[in-house]
Amino acid sequence: MSHSLFNIAVRYQTHIQQWMETISDDLNPSIKEDEELVRRASFSVRNGIVSTLSYDPYEHVLTAKVQDVTPVIVTIYLLDEQVKCNCPENRLCRHSLAVIFSLYMQKFSLSEWVQEWRSKKTEQLSLLSNERTPESWNAIVQSAFNAVSADWSWKERYYIDNSIMQMKQKLKKYRPFEREWQPIYDIYTRTMLIRLLFESTEELNESMFRSSIQADIEEMQHQLLNLSNKPRLFAADAFYDALVLHVRYIVYDFEAMFDLRFNLLHAFWVILFSEKTRREEEFSYLNELIGFNNDLFRAFFCVLLKKKDELQLITQKVHASNMPEWMHLAKLAKEQDDLTSLTTILYAMRPHIFDYVNSHLSAWNRSLFVSKLYELYKFIDIPDAEREQLFWQFGTFGVRAYSDFLIEQSRFKDWVALHHRFESTLDYAESCGMKTVLQEAPETVLPFYHVLAVSEVRERNRHNYKQAVRIWKKMKSAAKKSGKTDYWNDYVNEVQLKYKRLRALQEEIQKGNLPL
Ligand SMILES: [Zn+2]
Repeated sequence: MSHSLFNIAVRYQTHIQQWMETISDDLNPSIKEDEELVRRASFSVRNGIVSTLSYDPYEHVLTAKVQDVTPVIVTIYLLDEQVKCNCPENRLCRHSLAVIFSLYMQKFSLSEWVQEWRSKKTEQLSLLSNERTPESWNAIVQSAFNAVSADWSWKERYYIDNSIMQMKQKLKKYRPFEREWQPIYDIYTRTMLIRLLFESTEELNESMFRSSIQADIEEMQHQLLNLSNKPRLFAADAFYDALVLHVRYIVYDFEAMFDLRFNLLHAFWVILFSEKTRREEEFSYLNELIGFNNDLFRAFFCVLLKKKDELQLITQKVHASNMPEWMHLAKLAKEQDDLTSLTTILYAMRPHIFDYVNSHLSAWNRSLFVSKLYELYKFIDIPDAEREQLFWQFGTFGVRAYSDFLIEQSRFKDWVALHHRFESTLDYAESCGMKTVLQEAPETVLPFYHVLAVSEVRERNRHNYKQAVRIWKKMKSAAKKSGKTDYWNDYVNEVQLKYKRLRALQEEIQKGNLPL
């Protein structure tokens, strides 16, 4: 015989109500597993997969079937608030909870219960945010993170940005009302969120998080600057200490996205943690850390603390693959007006530039890297011979800088030789200061023009002949400027003779009116 759930629910109404209160207290909406348990159980109920199998009114035992992927049997001891399920779960499982929910909803509103249970979280979190300790703020961030990441799709390529935005919106809700607490709250919770994101990138494709974390760090730089310009709250000391630990964990303990971790280190230690003792402490912490290569991090603190000898030692181990980080450190030294450190770093980098540029950088990043790096070299004194070594390290990408250098030293012949060697086009040579060379030493440019014009002629078509004549006209004015009229006229005759069979070229030469 069948017993309707309604009749059973009516008979045990007070017990069920009592039981639901116990459940509400036992389960914590801020805990991911609990939240998921309630969500899945109420989902099962709404989908009608719970059915009564038997009911013993004398033993007060109800047996029900829950049609999960494989059906399971739940036995409920109605007077004792006891439940058993034959699934492998040890604690209260979603099947048992679904049966209890089914009974409850015969007389009451389940969705109201769930809503009320969830709102406990909001109350708890508001309390937490007023309780000004790093632990309670950690809990807020963890809960915002859990709430969004409970959905399996949160880290899918198309949702990830939105998911992170939702987490941040949740964090905003618990922002303290007192203005003076807001900046530290923003920085603290954001750092903690970055930490949680880093923890979840371990299993993921980092490229999805990269842009979001990068934007976060950039924004945080402004916030840190803001915070460091305000009088420091005495009560916020604990947060500063906790931030040191978060940054330490993110920067030293992960492997992914080195550049971003380095930027984070930079942001905090250059802007916010400016006390010398704190920096010294961090440096000795790093010195005691063994088991991973912390040279770059130690070098970073050497620059901040002006430890020149130690920096010198570390730079002996500069490697081509670390060029971007060393460039970062060089910039830091420059920002600190520390020319000694800047010189140490740039000298150590020099022998590795060619290797880095040609084997670690993609073709379209090479020129930019070299010009940025050269900007830094301009701040230090280098003997000319060494500077030339540097240009050779730059290779093709150093031609422009090398050109400037040669012009500055009035070495116009060398300028021409350089552009010969790297086979510059006319446009490129002109962009490298050719105008000055023409002004100062027009005769040196004649052979360069000759090579350019001949290579146009070799193309054997009218368009290139026109180009050749254009180049010869420039050559003509250079010859005129250097007073080499005879030389020039001989040259034109020679050209006409040499290419007398190229009718089209002869026509263009005629039109060009080349002789002086
Ligand atoms: Zn179960």
